[in-house]
Amino acid sequence: MPQLGSSDSGHHGREREDRQLALIHRVARVASGPDDLRPKLQQIVRLLKDHLACEFVACASVDVQAGRFRCEALAADAPASIHVGYARDLGSGIVGEVAVSGETLYVADVKTYPNYIETMPGVCSELCVAIRHNGRTVGVINAESLRTDAFADDVDLLVTVAEQVAGLFAADWLSHAQQQRVELLGMLSELSRTAIEADSLDEVLQRIVHFFRERFAFESVGVLLVDDDASNLRFSAHAGNSVFHGRSGGKWPASLGVIGRAFRSAQAQYVPDVAEDPDYVLGNPSVVSEYVIPIRMRNEFLGLLNLETADAHALCPAKREMLAALAEQIAGAVHLAVANARLHEINRVVEEKSAALALANQRLRRANTQLAELSHRDGLTGIANRRRFDEMLATEWGRALRHAYSLALLMLDIDDFKSYNDGYGHLAGDEALRQVTKVLSNALGRGEDCIARYGGEEFAVLLPHTTLGEALHVAAHIGRTLNRLALPHAHSRAADILTLSIGAAALVPQGELDPRVLVNQADCALYRAKSQGRNRIETAPISLSAGGR
Ligand code: GH3
Ligand code: MG
Ligand code: MG
Repeated sequence: MPQLGSSDSGHHGREREDRQLALIHRVARVASGPDDLRPKLQQIVRLLKDHLACEFVACASVDVQAGRFRCEALAADAPASIHVGYARDLGSGIVGEVAVSGETLYVADVKTYPNYIETMPGVCSELCVAIRHNGRTVGVINAESLRTDAFADDVDLLVTVAEQVAGLFAADWLSHAQQQRVELLGMLSELSRTAIEADSLDEVLQRIVHFFRERFAFESVGVLLVDDDASNLRFSAHAGNSVFHGRSGGKWPASLGVIGRAFRSAQAQYVPDVAEDPDYVLGNPSVVSEYVIPIRMRNEFLGLLNLETADAHALCPAKREMLAALAEQIAGAVHLAVANARLHEINRVVEEKSAALALANQRLRRANTQLAELSHRDGLTGIANRRRFDEMLATEWGRALRHAYSLALLMLDIDDFKSYNDGYGHLAGDEALRQVTKVLSNALGRGEDCIARYGGEEFAVLLPHTTLGEALHVAAHIGRTLNRLALPHAHSRAADILTLSIGAAALVPQGELDPRVLVNQADCALYRAKSQGRNRIETAPISLSAGGR
């Protein structure tokens, strides 16, 4: 601490010292008070001006990064061109010079000092000291007087007061930093909550861009995501004023603009003055600065956050640090939403493919059923064909064998059908076959009875649970029904209507027997019916079913 009042001695010297100590005490009292920085500084410059009996005392803060100093408090007797909030570039004027050098500067006669800038008319001398904290100049106090060489004895005092004020600046800076941290934490959680509440990637991005636009008052906020082919960017969301607003969803070439540069370098790009940047693509004439931050999840480059502002100071280092932290936060949300969107797309494709497959399978099943039906059915009459008859015979034979009941078979053949065809034509012959089928179907009421077209004009009727006697009754019933139908057949040797010869057989199947035995017997019986004059029902000459029921 410099020695106070060192240039004086004796009684006046003591008085001066007392006054100086009193001032320092007052400043200390103000400094420890409950007020904020600015009201405290205002009280201090007033105390100083009274003490120094000069016309002007001011205190400025220094922002090295912005390259400016700014008036925070001011006490002046006459109107000055300076006011609280007034800012100037570092280096300009005596205050600007001290803000850069950090050295006390006393100009006893401003007329001799080329860098003097007049702020109040008539000023002759100026004393300016730096407020330093942690080796950096954080502010400046200056006093100006209408007298020449007014502050020769006050240099040390002002340096002491500047040290007191430095503590104030430090405390304010700390509380400001703390406030910013609290604000950032709040924004981080708000941003992730906002993003998590969204249902789709689009909504996540929309919420993010609106968040940035509202919280920081940017002119334009955009999110560009890396395209699937990883060589281009896509304008995925946008908020604010920009001609690129309409570009949502549009591609953004990797070669274009500051955005393209950030993409190619995978580095954040800060452009303090877009007019100076040859890459900048004009989207909004009021934009002054641009900041493009990569959105990265671990090592994956997901896209970019593009921020454009009309306020030259909106992207100060502290803000940029904050924005980078927020960009890191959105990476998680975007990553999650991108992964979700991909999963949804995969699910959609899988579902689509499965649906198509299910439909194809259904068609195939239907076609197979139709094919099976067709392969079992006779095309002309619609009844079972020979192949189906063989299957049914095997099935029924097995059942009758297991349950030891009688299985009967009728073999029926249209009499003189060749001459029917010859006489009435083949189409009439077809119709006659359908008529005979109808007669068989009507005559056989039981569901388990099976009628088949055995071949040509020959039919087979399989009758489970039927003895030979019962089979003969069924056969007689069929014959009568056909006779009642009385389809004319002028060329028949048996009658003048269409008739059938029927061979009947029945037996209780036994393990050592083959189903063909039953067919042979019925065939044999049919042959007998034919040879005995047709239009009749016969049984086999030696019936194996003799022992059956
Ligand atoms: P029989 O009384 O001895 O049985 O004499 P038939 O003329 O009925 O016997 P044959 O075996 O000589 O002739 C059978 C005829 O049945 C020959 C064939 O043209 C006819 N036929 C076989 N299948 C069909 C068919 O699907 N449609 C028509 N219209 N005729 C058929
Ligand atoms: Mg015949
Ligand atoms: Mg025949």
